[in-house]
Amino acid sequence: MAIVGAVTSDFEAQLRAVSLRVTRPRLAVLAALRDHPHIDTDTVIKLVRADHPTVSHQAIYDVLRALRDAGLVRRIQPAGATARYESRVGDNHHHVVCRSCGAVADVDCPVGHAPCLTASDDHGFVVDEAEVVYWGTCPDCATGRTTQ
Ligand SMILES: [Zn+2]
Ligand SMILES: [Zn+2]
Repeated sequence: MAIVGAVTSDFEAQLRAVSLRVTRPRLAVLAALRDHPHIDTDTVIKLVRADHPTVSHQAIYDVLRALRDAGLVRRIQPAGATARYESRVGDNHHHVVCRSCGAVADVDCPVGHAPCLTASDDHGFVVDEAEVVYWGTCPDCATGRTTQ
């Protein structure tokens, strides 16, 4: 119980730091993303509503947008996959994605800041980010095991 309280106040501090009001749905979404990084919108809704059945789908969409606008949540969308959300922000980390089952894992950025790659020709653009996705086969798929 003490641990739950400490974590909740951590989320409260995060929300206050970006001038967002502390609400139950916002805390619930942050908790869901901490425990389950890289989940899609439907999974966020399922997890939040399991604990807070009165929170509407629309409210959760709104929370995700507000948290994203405030920089507390990052949205990633590997090519051909549904958008995923995560609360690990600000470190420019990258992702490894399984072509077979869509599993996603974090890969630390070797440089730690954006952009971490210098374009060979930037065409005069001011480049502020290089997004790296490593594609491959996850261990489960490589050994032919079924996931879930
Ligand atoms: Zn896989
Ligand atoms: Zn990530």
